Amino acid sequence: MVAFLLSYVRYVILSVMKKKNKILGKKLLVITAHPDDESYLAAGTIFRNYQMGGTNFLVCATYGEKGKSHIKKPITQKSLKFIRKRELQKVKKILHISEVLGLNLPDGNLTQHADKMYFRSLMFAKKIKPEVILGFGSDGITGHYDHKSAGRVARKVAKQLKLPYFAFCLPPKVTSQALDWLIKKRSVKHYSSSISFDEPIFRIKINTSIKKRALRCHVSQLENNNIFTGYPDFAVKALLEVEYFRV
Ligand SMILES: [Zn+2]
Repeated sequence: MVAFLLSYVRYVILSVMKKKNKILGKKLLVITAHPDDESYLAAGTIFRNYQMGGTNFLVCATYGEKGKSHIKKPITQKSLKFIRKRELQKVKKILHISEVLGLNLPDGNLTQHADKMYFRSLMFAKKIKPEVILGFGSDGITGHYDHKSAGRVARKVAKQLKLPYFAFCLPPKVTSQALDWLIKKRSVKHYSSSISFDEPIFRIKINTSIKKRALRCHVSQLENNNIFTGYPDFAVKALLEVEYFRV
């Protein structure tokens, strides 16, 4: 019985390691909706992929011109686009992303532009020939409609090119309480009313300081210069130490 259990544990560990190895050290294409999605959900993984000899590419569907809730002065959408584009360029350097393709589609309205996003993401993927695609799962992490649309597009690209697809997940510790915070934080218009969170299959231990540096690049999105405002300490710790994915 003990021998059986040990071999089962070994089998589980090996299969988790195999799945991780399908991400790390590869040509990775990350497909997101807004500048900062990459940093919140996969900064550590992107950096580790680079460290393990892989290359990183990013498609970001919008320049997040609606994300002005933490900007104290009045700002036009055009200026905010410019600022967020520059912030994303800083992240590109820190995380060693070889190329960022910004699609400049309208923030908050991706569902209506999913076909355009699909077509342009597919063209880009055909050009760079990634081995793995990373993006949102069906929960869209926060239930944001743009995230859900970007996830559907990314999965469609992966399916079309017959590539493995890995979806971002929140840490299990966080999901049990995430809805309460998200309801407080969300402006209801852009979010679906209910979420059932995707269950992660494996985790990647990450470099906390790199993730903090990436998040700090998105200055326009920080509330009082803090990353993760309003999250309890255990959640911040979970989000900064490990990133979770499912197949
Ligand atoms: Zn987003």
